[in-house]
Amino acid sequence: MRRIYLDNNATTPVLPEVLEAMRPYFGEHFGNASSIHHHGQETRAAIEQARDSVASLLGCRSREIVFTSGGTESDNLAIAGLASAGDHIITSSIEHHAVLQACKHAEEISCQVTCVPVDGRGLVNPDDVRRALRPNTKLISIMMANNETGALQPVEEIGKIAQEADVFFHVDAVQAAAKVSIDVNRFACDAASISGHKMHAPQGVGALYVRKGAPLRPLFYGGRHERSRRAGTENVPGIVALGKASELAMWSFERGEDKKMSALRDRLEQGILAQAEEAGVNGEGAPRVPNTSNIYFDHIEGEAMVISLDLNGLAVSTGAACSSGAIEPSHVLMAMGLPADRARSSVRFSLGKQNTAEDIDLALALVPEAVARLRELSPRYKKQAFIS
Ligand code: PLP
Repeated sequence: MRRIYLDNNATTPVLPEVLEAMRPYFGEHFGNASSIHHHGQETRAAIEQARDSVASLLGCRSREIVFTSGGTESDNLAIAGLASAGDHIITSSIEHHAVLQACKHAEEISCQVTCVPVDGRGLVNPDDVRRALRPNTKLISIMMANNETGALQPVEEIGKIAQEADVFFHVDAVQAAAKVSIDVNRFACDAASISGHKMHAPQGVGALYVRKGAPLRPLFYGGRHERSRRAGTENVPGIVALGKASELAMWSFERGEDKKMSALRDRLEQGILAQAEEAGVNGEGAPRVPNTSNIYFDHIEGEAMVISLDLNGLAVSTGAACSSGAIEPSHVLMAMGLPADRARSSVRFSLGKQNTAEDIDLALALVPEAVARLRELSPRYKKQAFIS
């Protein structure tokens, strides 16, 4: 059976060029980057080259990049590192759990947290952020692209508000990096998180941009790695991979591949909607990253769709990877005001660089078929058809 993977917001396959770049660092170039001998110098140079590439992707200075183990660590480092007991933090109701739980922990150590709402398109209103400011507000943490809907938040406007109020601004850019261009200076942010495995580098590596001079407290204590901002011997192969994936992302922007991807996504979305009735796009009308489409199929359980499509070789998801399998409807879709049934009937399709037009053709054959089959089995759907 041919398998098609349209769950790239959960994780992406490592690109062959990325694998090639990292491979020597498992073998011949094995040194500890803190060692002063040849082997250490070799890996140190590779790390610094990767740092330059990641910095170019984000539009910052190399010294402002801290390598971490991934998006979750970057988010936690930004929040725990910039806010202290007694401070007020502003975040939004659609953040990833890495941010929401870090904020919950901050509350437990006497921070106050305000969660601003989103509208029906899944967008934060910058005025809500402005209104939420308090004299003790220390940090605003708002994501750039939502992992479930792909909706791009008005981070530039929020950055201005943070700057005017002299408050730190952290952007979770995990689902935006390598999909849309990022310029941390344009966003006036003080910290930004990215994750390797969402951009065709491996799982277990990420980075946090930290503006020069921002007083970041580390999460870990140990050696003076990463200028004392993140103790622990560096994951050299992972870091090299993240650097290579950043370079590839910049090249693909130059070649307009993001536009090609959004054309594929739009064809998938429109093709599905043309063939499946009582379906629609969650977050319709919001600016979005080019790879994500979140569609509800009324009278169907999203989980049943995922299983049915998987049996036919198509991998998709009902929402955030880490909540997959949970019975609770997605907190993002609920925050957007969807009724619980509609939130439960929603499926996320997310493309990656490896996807082709043929993948979309096959998905367009499989999805309407699965919708028809599951509705046939749905007592709710049958009852409604009978009544009307
Ligand atoms: N932030 C967002 C928006 C995400 O989508 C994810 C992962 O799904 C994370 C943070 C966590 O990243 P990681 O899986 O690298 O820990």
